[in-house]
Amino acid sequence: MVSSLYGVDQEQKEIWVFLEQEKGNLESVSLELLTKGREMADQIGWGLSGFILGEDLESLAHQAFNYGADQIYLASHPLLNTFTIETYSHVVFEAVMEARPSVFLYGATPNGRDLAARLAVRFRTGLNADCTDLRLDTQGDLLVSEVSGFGGGVLALIEMRHHRPQMATVRPGVFSSSPTTPRKKTEIITIPVSLTEDMIQTRILERVVGEVVDLSSAPVLIAGGRGSDNAFQMLQELADLMEGEVGGTRPLVDEGYIPRERQIGQTGVVCSPKLSLCCGISGAFHFIVGIDKANTVISINSDPDAPIFEFSDYCVVADVHQVLPALIKVLRSMQEVSNA
Ligand SMILES: Cc1cc2nc3c(=O)[nH]c(=O)nc-3n(C[C@H](O)[C@H](O)[C@H](O)COP(=O)(O)OP(=O)(O)OC[C@H]3O[C@@H](n4cnc5c(N)ncnc54)[C@H](O)[C@@H]3O)c2cc1C
Repeated sequence: MVSSLYGVDQEQKEIWVFLEQEKGNLESVSLELLTKGREMADQIGWGLSGFILGEDLESLAHQAFNYGADQIYLASHPLLNTFTIETYSHVVFEAVMEARPSVFLYGATPNGRDLAARLAVRFRTGLNADCTDLRLDTQGDLLVSEVSGFGGGVLALIEMRHHRPQMATVRPGVFSSSPTTPRKKTEIITIPVSLTEDMIQTRILERVVGEVVDLSSAPVLIAGGRGSDNAFQMLQELADLMEGEVGGTRPLVDEGYIPRERQIGQTGVVCSPKLSLCCGISGAFHFIVGIDKANTVISINSDPDAPIFEFSDYCVVADVHQVLPALIKVLRSMQEVSNA
C-alpha cells in the first residue's frame, strides 16, 4: 500500500474547508460545508479552519467566522484572483503540508473537484467524491463519508484509516448553511505566497458566462421528465405563474431539451424547494436524490405504479398533457382575480 505524504501519527486534529470564491463572493457550498464542519468539529472537540485564495479578501474571512470557522488561512496574490489549477494546488499543497489537517472538505463545483483531485494525487491520499453525508467517528477520529454506488442501489460508508488528509467533495445543496455566533477566539493566518506567471500552463482568453440559474435555492421547482416531452412551454408557464424554476431529469438534458445546469439529481443539482411538482418522471433513485429535501412533492404520472409516487405527498395518476393546461388555467384565473 502506498503511504500518504503524512500519516495519522502526524495529523493535526482539525477540519479544513476549501472556501471557494468567485469575484469576491463565497460559493454557497462553502458556507454549507462550514456549517457541517462546525457540527462535526463540536462533536469531537476539533478546530475548524477555512482556506481562502484570492486578493484582498479579508471580508470573506469575517463572513466565514459567522459560519463557525475558528481560523481562516488567507492566501493573497494577484495570480490567485482567478482559479488556475497550477497556482491553487501549489499554494494549498504547501499550506497543508505545513499544518497537516486530518480532514479537508471541498465543494463539488468544477473548481473544487479539480483542486481536490489534483491534491489527492499529490498527497497520495484518497478522495470520496460527491458524498451524500459526512460524519466523524468520534472513537477512531475517522471521517465517515456516505457515497452512493452501483447506480444508487447501494449506500457505501467509506473510512480512510491510514491516509491523510481524509478528503471529500460534497455537491451544493446537500447540506444547509446557517449563520452562527462567531467563536470567542478567531484568527486570520496569512499564508506567504510566491507565484510567478510562468507556473501557469493555461491562459484564459475569454470568459463566457452562460445562463446563471440556482436551482438549489428555488422555492418552487417544476420538474419535467420523459413523460412531459412536448410540454416544456407549459412547464415554463407554470414556473412563471408560481414564481419557480424549471428543472428536469437527465434524459431531458442528454436529449438536449434542457441545459445541463437545470438537471436535478445525483449528477445534477440537489434542490430543497418548498414545493416540487414532478411531471412525467418515473422516480429513479438518481433523480430522487435531487428532490429528497423538498417540503412537499406533487407528482403527475400516467402509471399508477410509478416509483415516484412512493416519494410523493400528493399523487396524480393522469396524463400531464391534460393536467397541466387545467392547472395553468386555474392559476391564471387566480392571478387575474388577485390583480383585479
Ligand atoms: C450514474 C448515473 C447517474 C444518473 N444521474 C441522474 C441524475 O442526476 N438525474 C436524473 O434525473 N437521472 C439520472 N440518471 C438516470 C436515471 O437513472 C433515470 O434513468 C432517469 O432519472 C429517468 O428519467 P425520467 O423519469 O425522465 O424517464 P423515465 O424513467 O423514462 O420515466 C418517464 C415516466 O413518465 C411517465 N409518463 C409517460 N408519459 C406520460 C404522460 N403523458 N403523462 C404522465 N406521465 C407519463 C411514465 O409512466 C414514466 O414513469 C443517472 C443514471 C446513472 C446510471
